[in-house]
Parts: sequence; structure tokens; C-alpha cells
Amino acid sequence: MIRQAKGKTPRRPPPKKPSNNQKDPVGVYCRVRPLGADDEECCIEVISNTTIQLHAPDGLKANRNGEFKETQYSFKKVFGIKTTQRELFEDVAKPLTQDLIHGKNGLLFTYGVTGSGKTHTMTGSPGQGGLLPRSLDMIFNSIGPYQAKRYVFKPDDKNGMEVQNQVDALLDRQKRDSQTSVPKTPNTRRVDPEFADMISPEEACKAEGVDEDSSYSVFVSYIEIYNNYIYDLLEETPFDPIKPKPPQSKILREDQNHNMYVAGCTEVEVKSTEEAFEVFWRGQKKRRIANTQLNRESSRSHSVFIVKLAQAPLDADGDNVLQDKNQVNVSQLCLVDLAGSERTSRTRAEGNRLREAGNINQSLMTLRTCIEVLRENQMCGTNKMVPYRDSKVTHLFKNYFDGEGKVRMVVCVNPKADDYEETLLVMRFAEMTQEVEVARPVDRPICGFAAGRRQRNQAFKEELTRRLEERGGPVDGDCPTVLNQLLQAFPPLPPCEISGPNDDVTLPRLIEALEKRHKIRQMMIEEYNKTATMLKSVLQEQDGNILSKENVIQEQRGKLGEKDKMLHNQKNEIDRLEKKSKMLEYKIDILQKTTNIYEEDKRSLQNELESREQRLQREMSEKRRMEARMQGMVSDTKLKWEKECERRVNAKQLEMQNKLWVKDEKLKQLKAIVTEGKTENRQPQRPSREKDKVPPKRSASPSPAPTGPPVRPLHRRSHSAGGERWVDHKPTTNVDLDTVMQPNIPNAIKVNAPNEKALSKCDKYVLTHQEVASDGEIQTKLIKGEVFKTRGGGQSVQFTDIETLKQETPVAASRKRRSSESGPDSEPMEGNWTDVETRCSVAVEMRAGSNLGPGYQHHGYTKRRKP
Ligand code: ADP
Ligand code: MG
Repeated sequence: MIRQAKGKTPRRPPPKKPSNNQKDPVGVYCRVRPLGADDEECCIEVISNTTIQLHAPDGLKANRNGEFKETQYSFKKVFGIKTTQRELFEDVAKPLTQDLIHGKNGLLFTYGVTGSGKTHTMTGSPGQGGLLPRSLDMIFNSIGPYQAKRYVFKPDDKNGMEVQNQVDALLDRQKRDSQTSVPKTPNTRRVDPEFADMISPEEACKAEGVDEDSSYSVFVSYIEIYNNYIYDLLEETPFDPIKPKPPQSKILREDQNHNMYVAGCTEVEVKSTEEAFEVFWRGQKKRRIANTQLNRESSRSHSVFIVKLAQAPLDADGDNVLQDKNQVNVSQLCLVDLAGSERTSRTRAEGNRLREAGNINQSLMTLRTCIEVLRENQMCGTNKMVPYRDSKVTHLFKNYFDGEGKVRMVVCVNPKADDYEETLLVMRFAEMTQEVEVARPVDRPICGFAAGRRQRNQAFKEELTRRLEERGGPVDGDCPTVLNQLLQAFPPLPPCEISGPNDDVTLPRLIEALEKRHKIRQMMIEEYNKTATMLKSVLQEQDGNILSKENVIQEQRGKLGEKDKMLHNQKNEIDRLEKKSKMLEYKIDILQKTTNIYEEDKRSLQNELESREQRLQREMSEKRRMEARMQGMVSDTKLKWEKECERRVNAKQLEMQNKLWVKDEKLKQLKAIVTEGKTENRQPQRPSREKDKVPPKRSASPSPAPTGPPVRPLHRRSHSAGGERWVDHKPTTNVDLDTVMQPNIPNAIKVNAPNEKALSKCDKYVLTHQEVASDGEIQTKLIKGEVFKTRGGGQSVQFTDIETLKQETPVAASRKRRSSESGPDSEPMEGNWTDVETRCSVAVEMRAGSNLGPGYQHHGYTKRRKP
């Protein structure tokens, strides 16, 4: 509610309006304009006085596979193409004007696509005045006789209203009259043909129940919101034809009652419909000029015409306005012609125009959003913030939706096919708007004075005038009481009738009386002159005061202008920062999304890592198990091999013992042969190892060739006619090997140990020797030699050949086969053979009578391999 109740020292608290919880929905009316002359297809049909139906145009229907589409929209009332401006006014704007006069606020706006008839509805044309001129007319028809003198009500610069005393008001009026530019009283000025006859007199209408005991004043402002900047269309700027100043934008402020207002906006006090409409037309012209100069399109701006009605009760006499600003009530009616509701694409805007269009759409979008949020809050009981501040239009009208007042909207539609899609959007928004509710304005409180004061005062004045007139002569209606008093102050005239020529009483009496009167008049004139000079000086003093005050005011205005500029700059800065913050928010959003993606990645990678770690753990434990098993196997194998080695060592020891024994045997035989001649009959004895004192080393490696006297040449024994005779020596330690390879020598003397007797009878010797080889098989070697007779008469055996017979285990056999496959060049084989051959080709000889061990002699026999 726009009610100003303020002052430095209020005498009583401002009259609080009773809180109101009654609500009314926003009244939405639909007006369908006639189809233009160039348009053929009609897409809208009024099907009842509350419902319209939209049909998709033919072109669109074809596009949608012939799908037939009809939609219906319902409103408080639908006005068809034949509706007159008056009918519309009666239903839509009259109640709002009625409310205004009763101190309540109202907001009326026209909404629709460009060309749908918004301006026609709001402003109209001569002969077809729209809602605005009709509302103004109704106001003045209603309050005309009850208007206060000009400047009794005076708006302050904070959206408040003050009451001036009679003198201040008079001075202001005189100042106004002295300014020639301002038109004089309405009846003397000419009427602009452009807006003449907007309303015919017979259509005049009047509000009911106007409070006659109040005094009224109407103030109008006219602003344009273009590109989200507010311009004052009534601001009087000195025109500079050389360098025209661009219009300065205004800012919105909140007054102490939390109502929004345009700071520093011109408010013109108007006293008649004509004057008001002339002011409107002045603003309209200015708007047109600015649009042409700046190449703007008026359909892209919102225009707001604000009618403020100030009213205050008359004093107890019913003569003057009560000098109490707390008793002043200000109500306002906003008439808004919104920008065309169309999408950017339709306007085919580019560059700057595109930005403008964007802003227009933005402000309408904000309006839509605000309405949507309001509706949601009201219907769902939520408490969402309504973004009024996002655009100037919504910010300015915040109080209507938040506070109280009547809100009405006329949705204008053009039924032509081109508009169809836009119209659909408009309809949806309009239908939704009806669901928003606004607190109903309450009746203003009645002041404490008795009703009918104005009438009584009027009646009194009329009576006085009549009486004075009766007394004779025209009377200055302004001061009948003073004149009366003056007339009574003079001494009454004596009877002036002269009785006869000798009457010398009457004339002198008359002369005396007249002289007396003349004296009184002189006195009065003097008195008056004195008072007049006094008053003059007082007035001059007052004038001086006023002048100085005006200077102060001028100064303050300058400061205010600077402050306004500063505020404007700051506002721009805020806008810039807001844009930046939006940009940053957008960036944050993107970063947030990126972070989310990375976190998702991180989580999946961590999961994978965990699963891999588990696998690793499993594999490690598997490995440890395997290691333990390997350890076990290794130690098992080691043990096995240790045993095996031991076994082989034992076998080798046995073999070595055997060899040693063979050598011992040979040595013994040699000894026997040596000693044969001397002790023919001495029996050969097997010497104990202790006795032999043969160093074990000898069997291990060949000792260097004997350095003693050269061996005597051996003489081969002559062969007997009967063939060769063999000494077959088989030690008792030998194992019987049941094989076909058993040497079988016919005609041989078999001995367990060689003796002189056997040797003397034979010329060949063979020793069957068994040993366990490194691969575990038993090797049987047939060591063959020839028997020679020594010079001393003894026998000597020279070994000529070694045959090797092998008894194999299956494992050894496979291994052996493998080694034979590797061929004779193979190193280990060579080594083996060398070893065997070395042994083969060694003749064991011992000199007769020598105590030294047997020496080895290489005889260079060809190497042979026996199966
Ligand atoms: P807007 O302000 O929505 O862009 P206008 O009010 O300027 O549209 O209307 C465009 C044209 O249509 C004007 O020439 C106007 O006279 C005409 N027009 C609009 N509404 C009506 C109506 N209800 N009856 C007759 N003519 C109309
Ligand atoms: Mg228009």
C-alpha cells in the first residue's frame, strides 16, 4: 500500500491498516482483436464469454502429420472482436479506478504479442479512448469538485506526500504562473487535436461513494523501461539542439514502508482529464522522439503510467485540508503497456537489437518466473524466493504481489496464423497467472471528524453570499465577513431628508456625520497602510528566506544529482559483478562436474587396485606354499642323493678295494715269479695289506714313469701245437651274472688266485673283474694278458687287452644310450674312454726282487671299443 505517514515528530502514530488475510486471484481478461485486412486464416474462436479455443493453422497442421490440434483456455472474461472500449473499461478498469478513489492500489497491465492490441487497449485512439484516458476521466469526474488547490499536496523525494500550508501553496502557485512555459488554466488552453475526443461526454462515468469531506489531488508519472533501464518520460530537460543529451536512466528505491518507487521521477499534479492526458501525450511524444533518435522499437519497451491520488480529510470547519501528514492517504494505479511477448527468433534481431530483444524477453521471462514461483508458493505452501529483482518491471511491482492491491491483466490476442505459436505461450502464461492470489486491499480508516463538513461549509458560504447580495451590490465572495464588519464599524448616517428651505439642521448633521466617517476612513486608511507596509516587510523578509532556502535546495539538488550518478555507476558495477558471478558460477558448475567424473574414475581405479592387491596377496601365498613345497622336495632330493652318494662311495670303495686287491695279487704273483727260482717250493701267500705298504695314492693316479733301470725285453712264450691255453682267474668276490656275455674259454685252467703252476702251463691270462660304475651298473672287465717266461725261470704276465661287459639297470641303460648317441666327439665320453683306455694299455710289471709298487707303462695299443 502506498501510504505516506511520516514526519520528524509525528503527533500520533501512523494509522495502521488492519491486517488482511482475504485474497483475490489476479484477474485475467482476454481480448481478441479483429483479424487484420491482410490476414486470412483465423486461429482463435471465442466459444463462450469465458473461454477461447485455439486451432493450429493449416500450415502447422500439415507439418505435424495432419494431427489436428485444438486447445481451450479459460479466463475471468473473454472479450470478442466486437467489444467496445467502453465495455472493456466497465469490466476491467472501472473497479480499479473506483478502488483508487477509495484509497486502494491497483495494477493493470496489457500482455500479448506485438500487434495484438495492447496499446489499442491501454491508450486507444481518438473516438476510441482506451483504459487509460477513461480511467483518468472517471477520476476527475468523481473528485473534480473536491480537489485541493494546486500545491496543497506536495510529493517529497522519498515517495511520500506532504501537506503545505495555504501561504506556501499560494507562493508555489504564483511561481508556476510566472513561468510562461507552463500552460495556464485548462479552460484557456487549446486542445491538442491528437488526443481530442478520446472520450465522448455522454460516456462519462463517475465513482460511487466518494468521500466529500476529503480533499484530493492527482499526480501522474510516466516512465519507460527499455533494455532494463528506467527513463522518466516527463522529465523536463533543457533541450540543446547542438548536442542533445541522452536520456538519463533512473533507479528504483524502496521507501520506508518498503514500497518500490522510481527515485527522482517527475510527478506532475494535474487538475483535469485534459491536463492529465496532455501530460501523458507529452511523455508519449518524448518517447517517440527518443525511439526515433536512438533507433529503438517501441514494442520492445514497457511503458508505465502511474496515477497517484493523494487525499486528506478537511479540517473541522470543512474549509481547508487538515494540516496533518499522518492523515494523508496516497493510493496509486499503475497502467502498464508491456513489451511485445515474442521470442528472439521471431524478431529476427541481430547484434544490439538481439541484446535488446534478449532483455525484453528476459524481463518478461522474469515476470513469468515470478508468477510461477508465487503460484507454487501459494499452492504448495512453499517459501521460495520470488526473483522480483531480476528485472526492473517485476521489481517495481513487487509490492502489488507481496503486499496488497488489485492486479488485473488484459491478454491481447491477434487471431492470425503467424502469431499462433507465440499466442500459445501467451495463453499458457495468462492461464497460470490466474492461479496467483493477491491480498485484498482494505478500506481506509475514517478520520475522527463528523461527516458532511464540506457540505455544511459550502451551505454556510452560500447563505452568506446570498445575504450580502440582498443587502445590495456585488460582493467579493472571498471576503464577505470583513466587508460586513467594516460596514458596521461606520456610524450610521442621520436622516437625510430636508424638511424645507429653512432646514439648517439636516445638512450640517449630515456634514458632521460624513466628516466623522471621513475621519474614520482616513484613520482606517492609515491603519491599513501601516499594516500593509508591515506586511510588505514581513513578506519581503519571507521572500528573502525563501530565496535562501531555494538556494539551499538547489545546492542539495546538485548534490543529489551527484549521488544519483554515483549510485548509477555503482549499479553498473554491481551489474558487471553479477554477470561475472554468474559466469563464475557456471565455471564452478563445470568444474564440479569434472571433479565428479574424476572422483568416479578414482573410485573405479581404487576398486581395481584393491582387487589386484587381493590377487597379488593370493599369488604371494601361493608362491610361499610352492616355496615350502620346493624346500621339502629339495631336502627330500638332497637326502636321497646323499644316500645315493653314500651308496656309490661305498661301491667305489669296494671297487677300489678290489683293484687294490688285484694289484696286491699281481704283486704277489710277481713276487712269486721273482722268488720262484730261489725258493721253488715256497707256497704263494696272500699278503696282508699292512705288509704290502702300498700307498693308496698309486691306484688313484698314474705315478710318473719309473726312473729305475730300463725294463728288460720280454720274450713271448712259444705257442704249443694244440692252440692257446688260458689261465681263467675269477676272484671269489665276483658276482655270478647270468648273461650270455659270460666269457667261456674252453680248455682253461680256472683259478681263484693265480699261481705259478697254472701260469707255467699256459700262455694266456684272463682276469674277470667286477665293479660298480658311477651310473650304478655292474661292469665286468676281462683283463687279458700274455704269459712270458722270465729269464730267472719265473712267469710274467703282460696285459694286452681289456674287454668290458656291462649289466645295465633300465635307468642306466637309457642314460647310457643317450651318452652313446652324443657321439665320440663328446667331451665326457672322450674322458671316459681315455680313462678306460689308459687303464687298458697299462701293463703292470714289477721287477723281480724289487720292493717298489707296480709301475704303469703305456704300450700304445689302438683304441678299441667293445660292445
Ligand atoms: P500492440 O500494442 O499490441 O503492439 P496495437 O495496439 O498497436 O498492438 O495494435 C496494432 C493495430 O491493430 C493498431 O493499428 C490497432 O488499431 C489495431 N487494433 C488492435 N486491437 C484492435 C481492436 N480490438 N479493434 C480494432 N483494431 C485493433
Ligand atoms: Mg504497443
